Amino acid sequence: MNAPVTPPEKATPRRKPDWIRVKAPVSEGYAETKKLMRELGLATVCEEAACPNIGECWTKKHATVMILGDTCTRACAFCNVKTGMPRPVNPLEPDNVAIAAGKMGLEHIVITSVDRDDLPDGGADQFVKVIKALRRETPDTTIEILTPDFRGKHEQAIEKIVEARPDVFNHNLETVPRLYPTIRPGARYYASLRLLERVKAHDPSIFTKSGIMVGLGEQRLEVHQVMDDMRSADVDFITMGQYLQPTPKHATVEEFVTPKTFDAYASIARAKGFLQVAASPLTRSSYHAGDDFEQMRKAREEKLAKERRD
Ligand code: SF4
Repeated sequence: MNAPVTPPEKATPRRKPDWIRVKAPVSEGYAETKKLMRELGLATVCEEAACPNIGECWTKKHATVMILGDTCTRACAFCNVKTGMPRPVNPLEPDNVAIAAGKMGLEHIVITSVDRDDLPDGGADQFVKVIKALRRETPDTTIEILTPDFRGKHEQAIEKIVEARPDVFNHNLETVPRLYPTIRPGARYYASLRLLERVKAHDPSIFTKSGIMVGLGEQRLEVHQVMDDMRSADVDFITMGQYLQPTPKHATVEEFVTPKTFDAYASIARAKGFLQVAASPLTRSSYHAGDDFEQMRKAREEKLAKERRD
């Protein structure tokens, strides 16, 4: 028999609570990051997804580059990226990403992409080219990729990308399985989970990372189950943030999850054995990704040292 489902702690869903308010992006660093992205013709998920952290991140010259263009072949109910028939893949994109990383002096870069169900490899080859260009031009930059699910072609796609050896392979589960038909209708929860599992099976040295948005109507025990599922796929790092409705056409916010509840989720996630946990209202997959990567690397070294001692 299923355990009873505890209703989550609620705040008023209509008005954004104080803990969600962010400063308008006005700094010099913000303007410089924007100029560089325009000059190199690069799209960013920071802008396309209307990320609330753009002021803070771009001021520090942290941007998440979105490769394979700015048009997605899917239309998820939570995502602001435009949907349609994408343009052909830009062969200059890998070099332009590497130039941007060099000019920004990035120690850690996050590369993501739109879904490209129109391409025979789902865009895996472009991820490989970007990783190679970065290794060539900025060898000290650590590389985190945040990939789509490569629907129907993930085995081949994973193999190719894992061989290029990114430091972190991130693929978001986004929400609890019950909400997939409405929130992420083009995807399958267990296919995404399998993708993460396969990455680890191919190369256990690569860190794996996954995240969910909360506030979409999920129940607390469902979130705990997602954590267990991720751990059973040996995911190292979980991120959890508040879902925000980008436009009135997108899925509505069912609840603003309180910072206290995020803290409780973080404690539970740590107890379940994740090497790294980021859970707060403004957490996004790439928010503070560089610092989190360093902490995760240290946590793995400590864990391995302890295993050797025991
Ligand atoms: S959190 Fe990520 S997506 Fe948002 S602005 Fe920062 S780097 Fe961009």
